Amino acid sequence: MLLQKSISLQAYNTFGIDVEANYFANITSIHQLRQIIFKEELKDIPKLILGGGSNILFTGNFEGIVLLNAMKGITLIRETPQEVWLQVAGGEVWHDLVQYCVQKNWGGIENLSLIPGSVGAAPIQNIGAYGVELKDVFISLDALHLPTGQLRTFSKEECQFDYRNSIFKQSLKGQYFIYSVCLCLQKQPVFNTNYGAIQQTLAQLEQAGKERSIATLSEAICQIRSQKLPDPKVIGNSGSFFKNPEVPRSILEAIQKNYPKVPNYPLKDPNKVKLPAAWLIEKCGWKGKVIGNTGTYHKQALVLVNHGNATGKEIYNLSETILQSVKKQFDIELEREVNVIGMN
Ligand SMILES: Cc1cc2nc3c(=O)[nH]c(=O)nc-3n(C[C@H](O)[C@H](O)[C@H](O)COP(=O)(O)OP(=O)(O)OC[C@H]3O[C@@H](n4cnc5c(N)ncnc54)[C@H](O)[C@@H]3O)c2cc1C
Repeated sequence: MLLQKSISLQAYNTFGIDVEANYFANITSIHQLRQIIFKEELKDIPKLILGGGSNILFTGNFEGIVLLNAMKGITLIRETPQEVWLQVAGGEVWHDLVQYCVQKNWGGIENLSLIPGSVGAAPIQNIGAYGVELKDVFISLDALHLPTGQLRTFSKEECQFDYRNSIFKQSLKGQYFIYSVCLCLQKQPVFNTNYGAIQQTLAQLEQAGKERSIATLSEAICQIRSQKLPDPKVIGNSGSFFKNPEVPRSILEAIQKNYPKVPNYPLKDPNKVKLPAAWLIEKCGWKGKVIGNTGTYHKQALVLVNHGNATGKEIYNLSETILQSVKKQFDIELEREVNVIGMN
């Protein structure tokens, strides 16, 4: 069993924050996970499950054990003329799974191309992009309860998926290690192209001779994302730092007095609307700002970046200042999407 001590986590988070964990273990099986969590010296210390580290901000050293999900495997467990069910180990890289399905021409997750991170973390915030969310293809997940070592299967309903949210970010936060996820993909895919710049990019690819297919749609999404978002290998970041707020219509109407064209999206509740956090932050003057080692990305104000040797606290402080300025200007309280470790 590979248990390491005093390990730098810099290579394990996409912000590139240089902090240490007291202990670190690569988890490759349930048996090994149980051995680690019940080891005498480890059983009572804090535990942090880590995938690709692409939705996490470390604000200090982690005084406990980091459990890196390194379980691999994709298994076809059910097939009908219309659909396939895949059982995917939590340590698989999400985009590798997307590519695997694209190659087989199985539809459902191509709009989620190029989202960084692991399959096991995907249910935590019900990952989503370009009009599709994980919950749209989700069947169930298998997880190990860290305090007792017991295994449990969660149905879709039990996961309580919502916009960038699930039970694993709420009442069961940090309790369950997700080691496997079951998804349903379609053999006769339905193309979801009504979002953002998809249609325009698809048209360009089709003009260049590509047929409309799952693969072409995935290529279009990859192109759009690469143009819009910073590559964490080049500039440290964690994608969108805040969620898009859902606000009462009265707040929208107040903003419209000064900004009649404020973008907004209807919600099920007719008295509420969703506003793009990026727009609010941009209107407060934050887009592309550099503050010491930190800042916001010049093409997308919602993405906070590490320009070099930023500490997690510096990035957290910037997020706090942005929160306060949006609150002051628009009376809207933004909520962080990124999981902050060490501030509460
Ligand atoms: C450039 C960029 C673009 C992004 N774009 C998007 C996007 O379009 N849509 C979107 O939804 N997200 C996006 N993200 C955020 C991120 O990719 C997703 O949230 C992803 O699912 C995180 O996976 P991870 O393995 O890196 O999780 P980590 O950052 O390692 O962990 C995130 C949280 O989940 C917990 N966790 C991780 N693995 C497990 C597990 N197996 N069991 C239980 N808990 C676990 C961790 O403890 C932590 O609280 C983006 C991030 C970046 C850097």
